[in-house]
Amino acid sequence: MTTAIYPGSFDPITNGHLDIIKRASSIFEKVILGIYDIPQKSLLFSVKERVDLARQAVTDYKNVEVTSYSGITVEFARKAKAQVLVRGLRASSDFEREFEMALMNKKLAPDIELVCFMANLRYQFLSSSLLKEIIQLGGNLDDMVPPQVSAALKKKLLS
Ligand code: ADP
Repeated sequence: MTTAIYPGSFDPITNGHLDIIKRASSIFEKVILGIYDIPQKSLLFSVKERVDLARQAVTDYKNVEVTSYSGITVEFARKAKAQVLVRGLRASSDFEREFEMALMNKKLAPDIELVCFMANLRYQFLSSSLLKEIIQLGGNLDDMVPPQVSAALKKKLLS
């Protein structure tokens, strides 16, 4: 059985992330969405909120679990007995950082393989940070996030 970890901050989860989850869950027997507990950046949602929003968004996928973790991603992968790390690549923004992280992860854990999914054309320019700006400017997030995520963003940023 191949288990994959899809790690990230998911602050909050978007339809771009969900597209990767859907595709990964059709290839791997089990996909664990790993939400960083202590990321090196300031986040809008607490880890509990990020986990709750992600769990609500993946209920249709029976082989997808959501859990938070702290520390080194490859250690989390080892503990979960995962063989694969999944990441998503958008055209202009992600490659260099992902490449750097992939090389470091390979050094730390040569036994764990990275599988990158090219972002869907529809979601190439979708990022969690852009969503926050759109909400603050009164824009509509339909097609970008599940309804409960849109509601949570409005509550957090507009009330
Ligand atoms: P991180 O802080 O690790 O970058 P993110 O939650 O921003 O966490 O992203 C998690 C993963 O999902 C990363 O591999 C990122 O490149 C990918 N990703 C983010 N947005 C999209 C999108 N719109 N389409 C596909 N993949 C995406």
